[in-house]
Amino acid sequence: MEERERIGFIGLGIMGSGMARNILQAGFPLRIWNRTASRMDELATAGAGPASSPGDVAFHSDIVITCVSDTPDVESVILGEGGVIHGARPGSLVIDMSTISPQATQRIAARLAERGIHMLDAPVSGGAEGAARGTLSIMVGGDTRQYERALPVFRAMGRTITHIGPIGAGQTTKLVNQILVVGHALAMSEALLFAQAGGIDLHKALAAVAGGAAGSWMLSNRGPQILARDWRPGFTIDLQQKDVRLALQEADRLGVPLPGTALIHQLYRTLQARGLGHEGNHALVKALENLAGIEIAAWDDGQ
Ligand code: NAP
Repeated sequence: MEERERIGFIGLGIMGSGMARNILQAGFPLRIWNRTASRMDELATAGAGPASSPGDVAFHSDIVITCVSDTPDVESVILGEGGVIHGARPGSLVIDMSTISPQATQRIAARLAERGIHMLDAPVSGGAEGAARGTLSIMVGGDTRQYERALPVFRAMGRTITHIGPIGAGQTTKLVNQILVVGHALAMSEALLFAQAGGIDLHKALAAVAGGAAGSWMLSNRGPQILARDWRPGFTIDLQQKDVRLALQEADRLGVPLPGTALIHQLYRTLQARGLGHEGNHALVKALENLAGIEIAAWDDGQ
């Protein structure tokens, strides 16, 4: 039987913990590292090997995956002190599955290439649910041979896996995704607020429209959370703002106007200013509630 590549996973947050668990369940040998060490406990109990640093993960792995918050965090775990670059061997592969700047991704890949280390960018969409269930959409940039090498691991984590183009192309696609996500969030927020003002049963309204042309992942997954006023994050406002900022910066570089996305950036900022950055991105509706002076309060759905 062909020997399986040894996988390393760095960053066991909302996304990384589910993704790493699915890699382990698919039968890959797995090394893990998380800045807050206690977050490694559950996976270690399930059979993963805890490491002492990102470099230590890389030393014991053929393929190292990173899933941390923002561009400086990826730079830190890959290029910083004790980082992946200091433990990885030539020929090994680094896959960054965080959402970060496409330009920075190309710079990191160039630094790794100087040491003969390959890199793919492979950001994901599908939320915490997709990470836990192994149904993520994965958008990949980088060399075709490395993409093919990584496919068995991607298949453990995702369902729709697309090789888009050269390094950075995955991140550019993810920003396309994020422009759509926040647009859907705003449409959902306005629609539910309008339904509230119109005095209709919000549960029935949601059931009536979710399966038709107006339906979206956002509406089906986060609409019910809004009706329950459940602001627990699948994706926090702070991270959402990071992605909107990346999209606006890239649009600025490309000279493309994104008026709707820029407006949503400002609406989220009002929530951050109120200390709500840790809430889920569907809490965008609170910014509109604030403007309208009404709150969504779903009728009892009889359950
Ligand atoms: P999260 O729950 O906040 O987890 C962030 C992870 O990154 C934690 O493990 C954190 O370690 C680690 N980290 C952050 N800064 C670090 C640093 N400087 N050094 C070392 N570790 C660091 O975030 P998440 O929701 O899993 O998101 C992770 C990435 O996936 C982000 O780029 C996000 O945009 C992207 N993403 C998220 C979703 C979603 O729905 N949540 C969907 C698609 C893509 P600690 O435990 O020590 O804090």
